[in-house]
Amino acid sequence: MKKVILHDKTFVPYLSESKIKEAIQSLANSINNDYTHSEKPPVFISVLNGSFMFTADLLKEITIPCEVSFVKMASYQGTQSTGKVNELIGVDENLEGRDIILLEDIVDTGNTLLKLVDLLKAQKIKSLKICTLLFKPEPYHNQLPLDYIGIEIPNKFVVGYGLDYDNLGRNLKEIYVLTEN
Ligand code: 5GP
Repeated sequence: MKKVILHDKTFVPYLSESKIKEAIQSLANSINNDYTHSEKPPVFISVLNGSFMFTADLLKEITIPCEVSFVKMASYQGTQSTGKVNELIGVDENLEGRDIILLEDIVDTGNTLLKLVDLLKAQKIKSLKICTLLFKPEPYHNQLPLDYIGIEIPNKFVVGYGLDYDNLGRNLKEIYVLTEN
């Protein structure tokens, strides 16, 4: 792995393909184990754009019956004085009574996650678990428990494996970190 330059910034190798693969296998093992006796197949909800690669690789290791769906969170300025309105786009099926596993690429402060969870809970789901490939414990300031965590990382900006820097870098096989200088 060599350093990569995206726009004006330089990134260096941080997590190898094999390290990512190992973390995904371990997440899949836990999920396969926890949902073996589910009444109905769980529904994986993948949050685009960043989670597309993680979702594809994780799902290949899931051996229990399951469904998968992709969502995007849209924020727009409301017409009322309440300010920003969040909306979940892409949910085209009825999630009522279903066991949901939310798939995130990375959890940083947890703000995005909190909004997503609120929007999903409004759909009268049966249960909700959160699975994230990467987690930055330092900036996380939420009470929401993360059920499945792939790899904990320091509070640094990373790209690759679905994650972008200003739209570039999503195609990288490995995860790279921004250089300090
Ligand atoms: P949060 O709301 O938890 O602070 O941030 C979540 C979102 O911020 C992620 O879904 C991701 O889009 C973006 N993000 C947070 N940290 C990073 C990072 O290190 N690299 C990249 N590429 N995006 C990040």
